[in-house]
Amino acid sequence: MAKLNMNYACLRDSYLFHNIAQRISSYTAAHPEQKLLRMGIGDVTRPLPGAVVRALHEAVEDQAKQETFRGYCPECGLPFLREVIAAHYASRGVTVMQDEVFVSSGASDELGDLLDLFAQDSTVLIMEPAYPAYVDANVMAGHRIIHLAASAENEFLPMPGEECGADVIYICSPNNPTGAVFTRQQLKAWVDFANAHDSVILFDAAYEAFIRDDRFPHSIFEIEGAGTCAIEICSLSKTAGFTGTRLGYTVIPQTLERCGMNLNAMWVRNRTTKTNGVSYILQKGAAAVFTPEGQREIAENIAVYRENAAVLMRALDAAGVRYFGGRNAPYIWLACPGGMDGWSFFDLLLHEIQVVGTPGEGFGACGRGYFRLTAFADPEDTKEAAGRLEKLLCGMKE
Ligand code: PLP
Repeated sequence: MAKLNMNYACLRDSYLFHNIAQRISSYTAAHPEQKLLRMGIGDVTRPLPGAVVRALHEAVEDQAKQETFRGYCPECGLPFLREVIAAHYASRGVTVMQDEVFVSSGASDELGDLLDLFAQDSTVLIMEPAYPAYVDANVMAGHRIIHLAASAENEFLPMPGEECGADVIYICSPNNPTGAVFTRQQLKAWVDFANAHDSVILFDAAYEAFIRDDRFPHSIFEIEGAGTCAIEICSLSKTAGFTGTRLGYTVIPQTLERCGMNLNAMWVRNRTTKTNGVSYILQKGAAAVFTPEGQREIAENIAVYRENAAVLMRALDAAGVRYFGGRNAPYIWLACPGGMDGWSFFDLLLHEIQVVGTPGEGFGACGRGYFRLTAFADPEDTKEAAGRLEKLLCGMKE
């Protein structure tokens, strides 16, 4: 009889989005005339930049002609894309070699696949509230998880302490769901801690493009010492609208070694065994993101999301509600008024003002009493939602 990975039996039901969907469908069944304003989605809404679309079309044409047709691509990424990504790092003063860049099908895929590098009895540190996939991927792998609770007291930016000794440390900055961002000094403390404990940091930079304040590094490799302890996982999903197109990249320094093994070489071995690379067409489209035109266009899209965040933050400020994130992240993490839990606040917003967000409880136990709003919605919907939210919250104070 086939023996299965029984770690799957330890997974908790991912009830968050299911539960949200159920509450929405019973509400809309009873109130079909009401339009819901969805401020809960983590998916982008702006279309791909024109430069990317043109590059994708050209790449399709390449595949149609004998002279330019491409078969399998190198598993770790096509040289032209690895080169422009390395140059992108260089433009920010960070030295990354081409062979340290691995083109991927997105951050989610990588965050799961990279666990292949670590032993089955590994311990991982996950700062919570957290992107739920971190916990689930490690439960599947049978790893021991240390849950490090973040809170308003540490501005949702927990710092290393005795309890943090782990083989793998997840850092997500800017954070999903809290929008909190580590400063250079704070990240330096984590890098020093990881080097001192022989840990490896998995640095999830999916939202780095939303950083606008110089105090916050876009890349962990801006921090001295990161080259010997960190892997950086990046994505074009939120940066360039690639959630449905799928492309990301991962940086594993040549200098990252543990147990006498080189993690870059291990990952080359992993990719050349387990993948046949990312499609040529998508890699051409991705390269266009790093052209001056592509960069200008993605900045325009991000400006739209930033303005959405500003609109929501102004409403919360007017209502005197405490929140985190929003300025350097597309997420706003607010404290539910009157000590409400996230689900009660969810129901209140759905029934009273037809606004949908995400209860903090979905991101770990310490998310209780918080609520996530996102800046990815349509600008008109966002303005409407912010107006309704402000009115409701101000009314609750009276
Ligand atoms: N990491 C974080 C923190 C995310 O919030 C998300 C998606 O929402 C991802 C990774 C996944 O990104 P990708 O679309 O590249 O798989």
